[in-house]
Amino acid sequence: MRFLNFSLYMAGSVIVILTIGYLLNRLFGSAEVRFLESKRLALTHQMQHLFEKGRRLSAVLHNEHFSKDNTYRQILQIDTLSSNIREAGMGGSVPRSPLVFESDLGSEIENLIGSLNAQLKIQAVSYEEVYRKALEHKSSLSHMPAIQPISKKDLIMISSNFGLRADPFLEHQEVHRGLDFVAAPGKNVYATGDGAVTLVKESRIGYGNEIFFDHGYGFCSRYAHLSRILVIEGQKVKRGQLIGEVGETGRATGPHLHYEVLYKNTPVNPSFYFDNSLTVEEYQRILKLAVKQDN
Ligand SMILES: [Zn+2]
Repeated sequence: MRFLNFSLYMAGSVIVILTIGYLLNRLFGSAEVRFLESKRLALTHQMQHLFEKGRRLSAVLHNEHFSKDNTYRQILQIDTLSSNIREAGMGGSVPRSPLVFESDLGSEIENLIGSLNAQLKIQAVSYEEVYRKALEHKSSLSHMPAIQPISKKDLIMISSNFGLRADPFLEHQEVHRGLDFVAAPGKNVYATGDGAVTLVKESRIGYGNEIFFDHGYGFCSRYAHLSRILVIEGQKVKRGQLIGEVGETGRATGPHLHYEVLYKNTPVNPSFYFDNSLTVEEYQRILKLAVKQDN
């Protein structure tokens, strides 16, 4: 009888323990599953958010940087980059909004980051090229002989144009290799572009006292019949800098500046290179403003 009671007691205990175990397992087990499920949803949400961020970056890259970059390249006369090159051969422009299956989201993000990375590298190289070209362009522009060598207020007239003219001393036609700026003796003569003085010549015949400049980029200029020369050979000179004074040295019919521009050693019409509306003073004012902005 005692044994029976003990057996029943044991069986009851086992059942109670198993029941409690089962209930605990259900309780905590399902809590763990719920926890993991909410974690999975949060991660998916986070990944979708990441994908969306990458997509927006890609749109900025395409809509702003690529189009601006192509405009800069056109202005600077560099070949524009085709979309194929820009997308680094990874295809597709801006990826579509996140209608991707959850299971693919990881690989979609990885592809997107890989593609952005490659496109950014190409864009960085392109910007470097554009920057280098822009510096070159800026430098070549300031070197071009592009203003008048005599201030508008001092200029009486341009007496001899470029090309064929009657020789003032001999009775035949000759080629006039430049322009003659008539001005009172002693009036200022300015360098028309950045460059270096290659030759200073003092003479009583021919072109009289004269200065030769090398502006680089194939351009040279020449200033003749000067009364005074204010630069020396080898000196670096900026556009608008005072270099001499008007005179009538050499074979001249009156005080004037004979001014030539040569491109690749061939005389060209200087008026093609200076803008008549831009005076020395205006250019110097622009230069001052530019220096102020740089500081
Ligand atoms: Zn002349």
